[in-house]
Amino acid sequence: MNEIFNKPYEAKEFEQDIYKRWEESGFFNPDNLPESLTRTSDLVSRTFCIIMPPPNANGHLHAGHALFITVEDIMTRYKRMQGYKALWVPGADHAGFETQVVYEKKLEKEGRSRFKMDPQELFDEIMAFTLENKKHMEEEVKRMGASCDWSRERFTLDPDIVKEVQKTFVKMHNDGLAYRGLRTVNWCTKHQTSLSDVETESVEKTDKLYYIKYGPFVVATVRPETIFGDVAIAVNPEDSRYKQYIGQEVEIENPNGKLTVKVIGDESVDIEFGTGALKVTPAHDNNDFALAQKHGLEHVIVIDQFGKLNEKAGKYAGMKIAEARTKVVEDLQAMGLIEKIEDYTHAVPTCYKCGTTIEPRLLPQWFVKMAPLAEMAAKAVDEGKIEFIPDNYRKIFLYWMNNTIDWNISRQIVWGIPIPAKLCNDCDAAFPDLYDEVHVCEECGGAVRKDTDTFDTWFSSGQWPLLTLNYPDGKDFKQFYPTDVMETGRDLIFKWVPRMVIFGLYLAKEIPFKTVYMHGLVNDAKGKKMSKSKGNVVNPIELIDKFGTDALRMGLVVGNTPGNDAALAENKIKGYRNFANKIWQATRFVLMNSDGVDFSQVPELTGRDKEVLAECAAMKGQITKELDDFMIHLAAENIYHYFWHTFADKIIEENKDRLKSDNEADKYAAQYVLNEIVRASLKLLHPFMPFVTETIYGNLPGNDGKMLMVEPW
Ligand SMILES: [Zn+2]
Repeated sequence: MNEIFNKPYEAKEFEQDIYKRWEESGFFNPDNLPESLTRTSDLVSRTFCIIMPPPNANGHLHAGHALFITVEDIMTRYKRMQGYKALWVPGADHAGFETQVVYEKKLEKEGRSRFKMDPQELFDEIMAFTLENKKHMEEEVKRMGASCDWSRERFTLDPDIVKEVQKTFVKMHNDGLAYRGLRTVNWCTKHQTSLSDVETESVEKTDKLYYIKYGPFVVATVRPETIFGDVAIAVNPEDSRYKQYIGQEVEIENPNGKLTVKVIGDESVDIEFGTGALKVTPAHDNNDFALAQKHGLEHVIVIDQFGKLNEKAGKYAGMKIAEARTKVVEDLQAMGLIEKIEDYTHAVPTCYKCGTTIEPRLLPQWFVKMAPLAEMAAKAVDEGKIEFIPDNYRKIFLYWMNNTIDWNISRQIVWGIPIPAKLCNDCDAAFPDLYDEVHVCEECGGAVRKDTDTFDTWFSSGQWPLLTLNYPDGKDFKQFYPTDVMETGRDLIFKWVPRMVIFGLYLAKEIPFKTVYMHGLVNDAKGKKMSKSKGNVVNPIELIDKFGTDALRMGLVVGNTPGNDAALAENKIKGYRNFANKIWQATRFVLMNSDGVDFSQVPELTGRDKEVLAECAAMKGQITKELDDFMIHLAAENIYHYFWHTFADKIIEENKDRLKSDNEADKYAAQYVLNEIVRASLKLLHPFMPFVTETIYGNLPGNDGKMLMVEPW
């Protein structure tokens, strides 16, 4: 018996060396896998591919990363052992707005502000910060045991990736799917950028609803401070109270004087809401903007990009929204124009990063026309081309695709992929300009300037399966696209998954992945969401240092059903550290009792021997089926119970006397059976607990230099 077994298993003594051995073997790269493993009987290789959701390179590995790395590594190791050319492509995401927000917090702490920095200087600083984090992140991904192919690692800001992303934009523009539009967009006054709808968070708030006397009407509004931007009053054409006013101009009074506005009839006005008469402020409300478009009304901007009233608001100019609201209401009250005030609870969109109430702001931006793309994506899913695990995410996906609005892809931040476009200084024209060649306006001949906006980060990550496989001409693209599994967090069913399907179908005319596997959140031991402010964040690397990676991996997957949130308790992980020791000790016992035995002869097996070997084979069948069905939580739990409670507790115990027997043939049969089960179990355990199993396997008699990760399943 190898003397390594004389001591108890200590994960930290082995894990980093084992990872190094795997890396040096080159087997993370499917091109290097032994042909004896990957060739099928008809001499074709089967492929399996997962694209790793690129972790945001703006911080350290968190429990959610640890979970997805574990799940994807289990899938990859399993398929590799099954003889597939298994490719798992790692990456890192610059994560646009997300990273810029992290960096801005850092600047704030240092008493600095991005608004006082030169854009290039800011970009360079964030790049240095990101590359530093990316390095840590990679080290941490390795600590998790990830068997991904580092030689294929990509970063969303690699120059060739940037170019491909920009080309997609130009292609979409040429195809009429990307356009420049002027409309109210979601504006965060703190972060000074527009956001897409999925980057806002709806929060229930109770505000005051003011009933304001408005000419012959009373209008109900939560935003009296915007009355200086009112251009119309809208009523429902069916509303008998107001019918006679439609088409007329009426005079209204506000604290800055008198104003004439038009009365319009529109069936979208809810007769039941408030008084049934609405003030229309196209520059500061999305619905009002739509009404204005329909009825040809002008826009009057009264609030600036910092959330302050401008000169159009007369004496309120320079005030912040909240202050202006109080003052305007006071003045309206003094004029006797407030009829009543009610409490009003409604959903208010806020910036998902800072919680600031979103200000609708009239701003020209680049948009992606979603309807035709979403229809294509919905069709592919309807036809069953993509399987969702769990299946209820299919419905969520379809709901989302059937209710899209055009996607604002412009961000007013430096940290991102530049939008390759020029804007005219003289007219409203805007043009894509991939190679910086356009110097005069195509419409009016005027001078043009560079669009300084960057793409929404999901515009590039949406193309990730294509970009990582070197679409359109790369060898990998031809060999591995469409990929097999997209394993990602359930919250990304809105932000990421649909965009990948859309870009895949639009660019490659083919779905990007056959299966979507959604995992839930990893919560703390009590099931509470981890957050820095609550101080309950679990650091996976600390857990690895304490209990070993294998234990953490088991703790993350056992009992964790796809799509549902999981609680991560230290006790559970500790239990699996004990299990790693159990595997070590049970193996040690078997080896000690069969030292030097040559197993080339098949022994005469007892009925019970045959039964336990059949049981082991059945367990293999069960684990295989569960892994094929993506029931990873069950497979992990079953192999755990089998090894500990069937093999170690029962089968070894039953055989203890036989190992001491004078009947050499019977003793040999017992030794043979136990060794067979150890070897079979190590294979079944390997995808879940790669380190301890690899360590043991390499030290089994006759296995010198053999690597479990490429042994046939
Ligand atoms: Zn914000």
